[in-house]
Amino acid sequence: MAEPFRFRVNQHGPAGSPVREPFAPADPKPGWVKLELKAMALNRLDLWTTEGIPGYPLPLPLTPGCDGAGTLEAVGEGTILPPGVALGGSVMIAPGLSCGVCPACSRGDDMLCPTYGVLGQVCDGTAATHVLVPAANLLPIPGNWTFEQAAAFPLVFLTAWEMLVHKCALRPGETVLVWGGGSGVGSAAIQLVKALGGTALAVVGSEAKAMQCWDLGAEHVIVRGEMKALVGKVRELTGKRGVDVVFEHTGAATWTTSLSVCARGGRIVTCGATTGRETTFDLRALFAKQIQIRGSYMGRREHLWTLLSLIQRNPTNPPFHPVIDRVFDLAEYPEAQRHLEAGNGFGKVVCRI
Ligand SMILES: [Zn+2]
Repeated sequence: MAEPFRFRVNQHGPAGSPVREPFAPADPKPGWVKLELKAMALNRLDLWTTEGIPGYPLPLPLTPGCDGAGTLEAVGEGTILPPGVALGGSVMIAPGLSCGVCPACSRGDDMLCPTYGVLGQVCDGTAATHVLVPAANLLPIPGNWTFEQAAAFPLVFLTAWEMLVHKCALRPGETVLVWGGGSGVGSAAIQLVKALGGTALAVVGSEAKAMQCWDLGAEHVIVRGEMKALVGKVRELTGKRGVDVVFEHTGAATWTTSLSVCARGGRIVTCGATTGRETTFDLRALFAKQIQIRGSYMGRREHLWTLLSLIQRNPTNPPFHPVIDRVFDLAEYPEAQRHLEAGNGFGKVVCRI
């Protein structure tokens, strides 16, 4: 294998600005492991880490990257490995890091831990040939999946599952409007809504993306145009009722429309604000329609095991799978960041290592 290398954010800058450098991967401390990475997947967090987050200082220099998969190269002294994981074997990474001993962690709500953080933000991430992670963050890769698929899976599916199952308690027969159906988290949400017995109504930016949403199991797809027309279309498709759940991650550009398309007693769940994080809205829409707003960030690590068991019931035809937009070489990581930011793809942007 070539010299180990990684990408570094030495100072915040635009997408594509992380710098490649050689490095000597450290040996894992007790409780931690070292992976030789074979693939990593990009997320919006890679861009935020690169560009900087106002009011949220990051420990620079830092290697971005939350998602990854590879082979287990070294194990810290006295470290216990999760079931199905062995030295030299193939593994994927759960992206959330927490203390493991506080009350929130003890009841499984690791993403509510006071020290909770994501790989590639609180410590060096996966835009590298090697990464160090806690052994508790390892999971076996489903049967016939490639490293690229395994890397593209954890963060978006964990996020979408948490939003739909735990924040919204989605019931069979309910209707969910999924903004950005072509995004990584959107493509995961469409499939999970269907697997959970719901009806997904996806919103996309182009006709080409509409076709792919249908392939994933969306019941209806709306090509985004004027928001007023979109509200009319949703009303028409839902018998004037609106949708039971709005799956939000887009923020300022869509927020007031989300309130308009949400049914009486419905819920809006959000995990992001890619179009802007500040918005205003008419509170009457909220209380008169008795809408509940729920914030969500990542999800319980335990749920990745749930998702894994659902896949392993039928690995050749799983109820959901990561959608890969494009595979770059890790050496092209800056270009992969710019591609993600441009937002023209469908599904996850992955780097092969
Ligand atoms: Zn904790």
